[in-house]
Amino acid sequence: VSQQTFNVKNILKKMESEEYKLLSEIGKIADNLELDVYIVGGFVRDLILGVENFDFDIVVEGNGIKFARELAEELEGEVIEEHQEFGTACVATRLGLKLDVASCRVEYYQSPGALPEVEASDLKQDLFRRDFTLNALAIKLNSERFGKLIDFFGGKEDLEAGLIRILHNFSFIDDPTRIFRALRFVNRYDFELGQITRELMEHAIDQKVVEGVSLGRLSNELELILKEETAAEILSDLEEFDLLKFFHPQLSWTAKQSKLASEIPWAERWVEELEIEEELAVWQLYLLLLVNPLSVAEAKSLLTELKISNDIIAKVEFIKESDKEKLELLREFNVQPSEVYNSLKSLSLEELVYLVIVSENTEVKDWIEFYLLELRRIELQVTGKDIIELGYEPGPCFEKALQAVKTKKLNGELETYEAERNYLEKYLICLKEEDN
Ligand code: ATP
Repeated sequence: VSQQTFNVKNILKKMESEEYKLLSEIGKIADNLELDVYIVGGFVRDLILGVENFDFDIVVEGNGIKFARELAEELEGEVIEEHQEFGTACVATRLGLKLDVASCRVEYYQSPGALPEVEASDLKQDLFRRDFTLNALAIKLNSERFGKLIDFFGGKEDLEAGLIRILHNFSFIDDPTRIFRALRFVNRYDFELGQITRELMEHAIDQKVVEGVSLGRLSNELELILKEETAAEILSDLEEFDLLKFFHPQLSWTAKQSKLASEIPWAERWVEELEIEEELAVWQLYLLLLVNPLSVAEAKSLLTELKISNDIIAKVEFIKESDKEKLELLREFNVQPSEVYNSLKSLSLEELVYLVIVSENTEVKDWIEFYLLELRRIELQVTGKDIIELGYEPGPCFEKALQAVKTKKLNGELETYEAERNYLEKYLICLKEEDN
């Protein structure tokens, strides 16, 4: 495909002025060093789609690390990471933006004589090793050509047609994680796989190329999938393409899981409206639903292998072992607020929201809302000091008595400090009589 010439300067101008200024400054710094510089990848894709993206991947035809240091100095920022072996670095700007800087990686793809000019060939080879045409676009940043869209592989046309296409026939074999990336982009943008891309993908899956992917990379892909807004649709695609078995032979995404997952966006809005302090880790809800078909032991061993944190593994254990019991309690006709509080107090927000989703029951939702907004915030006004004032020596009865007052207060029976103190006094007397 011959390279098309488009200029996206006008689209760039619509960005926040700070970011626009930053990109043109990067171009000027490269001008002074007589280097060609480009912004590439996801930023360019999303710019054309009109989607906000602050991933600034800068590619320079020269030494990436040296250029990163130069950028840091000129932009009064700092180099926060350097990878000598890859020739890449990360610069944090004064305004808190991050720039990933790399050199064109021409050395891996040398094909002497095939490319007409050195400047374009370096970049072209860098872009050719990327995953899909829509991610192989670049924009030149040097002043003279600022905003020039570099499109060797028809990426712009594919973006406009809504197609995900690989750049060469061995792409999925070279790097099977591209299978997961393709399904992520298909769902995120509501695009389609190009016909040949689809066939090559199915072929690669049949060849079991995914078996060769390290668990670390698989885990990374899974997390990226679960963090997408369209996670449920992507999981359905993983099921359809028979990809879940590469994580675990028993893993599946059934119509039932899919139906429960369709409640997650609603639950997310519900939590937002509660205006509580914690942030809901939505991706963990998808994970909890995904591992549902596994036994506790299977789920635990899978998540341990995938190096999913212990904190999340504990949530899976809860879901598999105690959710039914908690749901039964919340559905009981005469349940007391103190019982609800004691049953829910050790649960994370994700576990609570999970209960709401699987219960499909408004009573459960109302109880959990009441717990989050009221019950868990209830504090006693009386303390151990009051017990000492009432003439008792510190001991095990303190905890027991305060617990009893709290139960009464949770049940709405003690409104004032005096009421708490009176009840405390009565309770301590009873305790003493029992002891005698
Ligand atoms: P996202 O919006 O999900 O962050 P992205 O395209 O910006 O998408 P990154 O993972 O940050 O994704 O990758 C940046 C760029 O690096 C991509 O646009 C693509 O050009 C290239 N890339 C990433 N992963 C691969 C891969 N497995 N094979 C080839 N190129 C890749």
